[in-house]
Amino acid sequence: MNVPGISGLSPAERADHRLGRDITRIEPVIVDLPTTRRHRLSNTEVTFQSYVIVRAELADGTVGYGEAATLGGPRWAEESVEAIKANIDAYLAPAILGRNALDFEANLLAMKKAASRNNAARGAVDSALFDAAGKSLGLPTSLFLGGALRDRIEVLWALASGDADQEIEEAKGKLSAREHRRFKIKLGFHSPADDMARLTRITEALPGCEIVCDVNQAWSEATAIRYLPRMAELGIVLIEQPLRPGLLEATGRIAARSSIPIMTDEAAFTGAEIVANATSGAGSVYSLKLVKSGGLMELKRAAGTAQACGMELYGGCLLETGLGAAAHLAVFSTLPTLEWGCEHFGPRIVKTDLLREPITFKDFHIHCPTGPGLGVDINEDALAAMTRKA
Ligand SMILES: [Mg+2]
Repeated sequence: MNVPGISGLSPAERADHRLGRDITRIEPVIVDLPTTRRHRLSNTEVTFQSYVIVRAELADGTVGYGEAATLGGPRWAEESVEAIKANIDAYLAPAILGRNALDFEANLLAMKKAASRNNAARGAVDSALFDAAGKSLGLPTSLFLGGALRDRIEVLWALASGDADQEIEEAKGKLSAREHRRFKIKLGFHSPADDMARLTRITEALPGCEIVCDVNQAWSEATAIRYLPRMAELGIVLIEQPLRPGLLEATGRIAARSSIPIMTDEAAFTGAEIVANATSGAGSVYSLKLVKSGGLMELKRAAGTAQACGMELYGGCLLETGLGAAAHLAVFSTLPTLEWGCEHFGPRIVKTDLLREPITFKDFHIHCPTGPGLGVDINEDALAAMTRKA
């Protein structure tokens, strides 16, 4: 096997897999990518997406990349791209520079000691280290996580313009291209009654399609009680985060009345929060996201925690580019179960992805990249062109 970066070494040196894998540079940049259409949530809307892309360099010259996604500033969660970049530069990078990239668990602990929470920032650095280590050794990141069990995952598409005519046309285009047959409708930016009218039109226009609804915390318990029966009549298969995080008992009460399963998203970042949501009956499905878990192994541990509590798993996204999607897919490919597939449509909603070769979307599935590291290569010219200038 030709191992990049150590081909000039003696057999004894080559046998030391740690040699040349010290972390020499961590460089985060902010990029702003326009989206193909307006994307609305209950509390914000975006026409461009901002990310922090982290470049990690090892002593043997290998470079790896990782990504932190946000959605419309520090709204979906408390981290903004500006804060993510500043905290990587000031705290996370100094905590791991000079350490060996293969010490994944130790590097994670060093970053946690340097900055509490900051999960999106830590997840981006951790992804870049997994990519660099894998590329340096010529091994896919999924191998470090237990090895892949699947090579493709059913992927849904989100309808989030708020205009039913546009959304139906968009969904029909995805269906006829055989790219997506499961759709997520964002609710909460219209009144509940208007959202029900919109949902009725969409479900009637898309017979046979599975429809998931994401309320992004916009409803009260009373609103949920009033409208859940109508959503059940419409055949909605899953409702995501109807109430605010912390309303465990109220969410548990609506879940008990609902014939549609409730998915926990913003309400659970930590393992303890996952357990609290599951044991209070507030959620029976968990949305996995790197920006919540703060690292690839942490994401896999979150999946194990949710599964141990009896929750089903859903691969969530925050409109990551192909790079961020690849980091999620490296983990998702190794999970024993992933009942609800994933929603990594982000590479298709940004006008310019940052990859040399885009990730394949085919026959309603996203294909897991298989090359060394995260299996994708950054187009450095595109990255430089989209990097926010100081
Ligand atoms: Mg969500």
